[in-house]
This record gives sequence, C-alpha cells and structure tokens, in this order.
Amino acid sequence: MLEHITASEVAGYGVGALLLCATISAPRIDSYISASQRSSLGMCKKCGDLRLIACSNCKGSGSLRQGGIFSLIPSDEVSFVNKSKMTSLSCNKCGAKGHFPCPKCYKVPST
Ligand SMILES: [Zn+2]
Ligand SMILES: [Zn+2]
Repeated sequence: MLEHITASEVAGYGVGALLLCATISAPRIDSYISASQRSSLGMCKKCGDLRLIACSNCKGSGSLRQGGIFSLIPSDEVSFVNKSKMTSLSCNKCGAKGHFPCPKCYKVPST
C-alpha cells in the first residue's frame, strides 16, 4: 500500500495535517498570523474578516467586573460567577456590546 503513495499524495497529507492543526489551534494561530499574511490571504488586516474588533477595555465581554481576583478566571467562568456574586458595570467604551465594528470593512450606510 505505502509504495503506491506518490509524492503529491504525501504533500496532500502534509497540507491536510497542517489544516487540521490550524483548525485546532485557530485561536492561537490568529495571534501569529501577521497583518501582511492576512492581506495576502485577502483578509482584513484589522479584524481578519470578522468585521468586529473586540473591545480592549472589557476584553470583549461588554461589562467590567468588580473585584480584581476574578480577573484571573477565564471569562466565561467570570460571567457565571458574575451573575451570582459580583456586580458588573456596562463597558462605556463599547456601549456594553463587547466589540466595535471594524473601521476597515464595516461600512456605515450614508444617508
Ligand atoms: Zn475588518
Ligand atoms: Zn467594552
């Protein structure tokens, strides 16, 4: 069986493995895909075609937590804790949405 595999098939398996890795590590891969690579892929340099940019003030959650220790907990756990025990403030930077429309690719309809 193995001797029938051609070089192009081997290359195909290699690409498949890479794509699989890319899919699994997508959140991490985003941080090291450079802006230039994104543009060469036809993706928006700013947002990577998400058309949204996470708010840096509230880390995309739309609310600001009270109580510093909980900032160490992953955000979905924080929001769970937040509902029961903690008070939160709406983020006024993003209007509690947690994100902004990408200025590069979000077109406001001009009237
Ligand atoms: Zn964009
Ligand atoms: Zn915000």
